[in-house]
Amino acid sequence: MDAKNVLERVKAIAETFAADRPARQLRRSLDPADFTALREAGFFLTGVPAELGGLWTDAAGSARSVCEILRALAHGDSSVALVSSMHPAVLSFWLSTPKVPPEFADAWAAQRRAVFEPAAHELWGTITSEPGSGGDVGRTKATAVRGNGAFYLTGTKHFGSGSGISSFMVTTAVPEGETDPDWFFVDMRGVPWDGSRGLRLVAEWDGHGMAATQSHSMAFERFPATRMALPGHWRAIADAAGPVIGCLFAAVVLGVVETAVAAARALIAKRPNDLRPYEQVEWTRAESEAWLAEQAYEGMLRAVETSPSPGREVLLGKESMADLAESCLLRICRVLGGGTFSRRSPFGHWFEDVRALGFLRPPWGLAYDILFSAAQSPLGLKPSRLQP
Ligand SMILES: Cc1cc2nc3c(=O)[nH]c(=O)nc-3n(C[C@H](O)[C@H](O)[C@H](O)COP(=O)(O)OP(=O)(O)OC[C@H]3O[C@@H](n4cnc5c(N)ncnc54)[C@H](O)[C@@H]3O)c2cc1C
Repeated sequence: MDAKNVLERVKAIAETFAADRPARQLRRSLDPADFTALREAGFFLTGVPAELGGLWTDAAGSARSVCEILRALAHGDSSVALVSSMHPAVLSFWLSTPKVPPEFADAWAAQRRAVFEPAAHELWGTITSEPGSGGDVGRTKATAVRGNGAFYLTGTKHFGSGSGISSFMVTTAVPEGETDPDWFFVDMRGVPWDGSRGLRLVAEWDGHGMAATQSHSMAFERFPATRMALPGHWRAIADAAGPVIGCLFAAVVLGVVETAVAAARALIAKRPNDLRPYEQVEWTRAESEAWLAEQAYEGMLRAVETSPSPGREVLLGKESMADLAESCLLRICRVLGGGTFSRRSPFGHWFEDVRALGFLRPPWGLAYDILFSAAQSPLGLKPSRLQP
């Protein structure tokens, strides 16, 4: 199976999702059957390297094809697309590896094999964010203590998109006796959420947008965790993967914007002469913003494909797209009228869905800190903290 086959299959799935849109947009939870269909379509291979039977060669060669699959999926269901984007996003920590020091080479190679083998069948996600961290992994408070040759993680996390669907989730904690956080992953399969085995549901996701992503808040209490086999390199790992991750999130939101514009255009086409001058201007500006969002997405991918350090361009693109997507949907709602407030209208759902992009890591404030400090630095951007 190659990326083109997977794209065609995912497009077909997205069409079935779109046909069921009114019901899907009212969902508050994920349907495991959707992910079974995506697995059978080969989507899970987006996070597996080609040498192990997957679709990923390197960022320059694969980012665009994986983004296009997510863009197509978002035409059908925003929440499923966002949860799906986490799979290649977190696996890119092992796909876009920084230079591995020789002392870690064997352990790293063994961990890559152990991670990628189940990744063709099992969904990966992340539950890294912590209340009070502002999306900054460097401010992680969760801890990981050693015992019986393993680590046990304690701390409160939120925004775990795909909770209950993802088999494995990447997270962060400060290892015992150390001062900096590091990356870990946890096996969530079959673990109850009542605290009896160290995992407790603190709050179910109740998002206005991306409403069915199950981005729950969870408390971990001495929960078994595996440390990434490149200890002490959390920033380098995040920096290496960050540009691809930014593109994946952008692809999802571009797909939502395109779908909303197409749906609005179909409605407007039925009564073009009814639009007031104000509505004509707003509609034209909405179309301009959708076009600009696509140009930003193209620029992000071009940077990943051609630049040795694409972090700044990708982050500029992500923040631009976040602004453009919100503004575009706002204008569409103004043009189409108060009925877009109704939950029976798709537009209010899409309006909230696209707002996710600005809050995905790095969220607004952190993103602008990074961009502003990069502008002051003669060395350019060190794109730390671009991870989901
Ligand atoms: C739709 C969506 C999906 C997302 N998916 C994921 C995902 O899959 N995985 C993931 O890791 N992240 C995910 N994120 C989170 C994202 O990456 C950012 O971490 C998040 O948007 C940052 O939230 P925040 O700005 O509210 O800051 P945060 O600091 O994360 O949250 C602020 C909250 O913490 C409380 N708070 C503030 N200070 C303190 C304090 N000192 N002690 C205790 N509480 C405090 C505030 O009252 C507030 O409720 C997602 C976000 C969105 C919107």
